[in-house]
Amino acid sequence: MSMNCVYCSKAVFGSEGITVSGKGPAHQQCYHANQIFKRTFQTIEISELSDEELNDLKDLVLAEVNGRTRKLEEHDSGGDIELF
Ligand SMILES: [Zn+2]
Repeated sequence: MSMNCVYCSKAVFGSEGITVSGKGPAHQQCYHANQIFKRTFQTIEISELSDEELNDLKDLVLAEVNGRTRKLEEHDSGGDIELF
């Protein structure tokens, strides 16, 4: 049984291979190179989002960061909180 890397199409053997969910087998090196190139975060391929989707994601991330910052600062002696 031969499996080919979804990125470079060459055969993947045993320990050098991983399975990319939704895509198939890949070399670990190809996978990591592709992660950097494609700016993939977990299952989201950020470079494939539309501008609108990217803005939605940005808002969610900023809201989450802001929420966590606020929680941390609640334990402080009341530093300034930036809302936006
Ligand atoms: Zn490969």
